[in-house]
Amino acid sequence: MFSVPLWLCGGFWGMLKIGQSHYDALRQHGEDTYPHECCGVLLGQMDGDARIVTSVARCGNTRSDSPHNRYNIDPRELIRIQREGRERGEDIVGFYHSHPDHPPRWSPTDLAEAHWIGCSYVITSVEKGKAAVTNSFELVGSEENDKKLVEEEIKVT
Ligand SMILES: [Zn+2]
Repeated sequence: MFSVPLWLCGGFWGMLKIGQSHYDALRQHGEDTYPHECCGVLLGQMDGDARIVTSVARCGNTRSDSPHNRYNIDPRELIRIQREGRERGEDIVGFYHSHPDHPPRWSPTDLAEAHWIGCSYVITSVEKGKAAVTNSFELVGSEENDKKLVEEEIKVT
């Protein structure tokens, strides 16, 4: 569980635009780590209401106690990914993780541990080792108390 202050990514009620190769890569990650959850970071740019993914960073899941239904990104790894992204002109625009043998809907834990308002939270269900449905949710609200995850469109380009 990492506790970062409330980060603002900007942008509301949007859409996630992601290239086919990046989309395939994050789904593949879920298959690679099955039956454990995978997790990673989406980098790119905000464009109005859309988040455009230009690279995907895999992260290690630090939850060794319950890796099949929990994920956690090491804050030091997150800071490194953010710094390396900025050197390429990219910002963090979202996060992804997998739900092994579980529907691609966010859980109360997913909401509690989501802190980046304006970012996308992508969840891929992996059924018997095969990536199934992928959904994306935008974290909206103005602070921790009123934040919520709202389903958004994924446009694979
Ligand atoms: Zn989850």
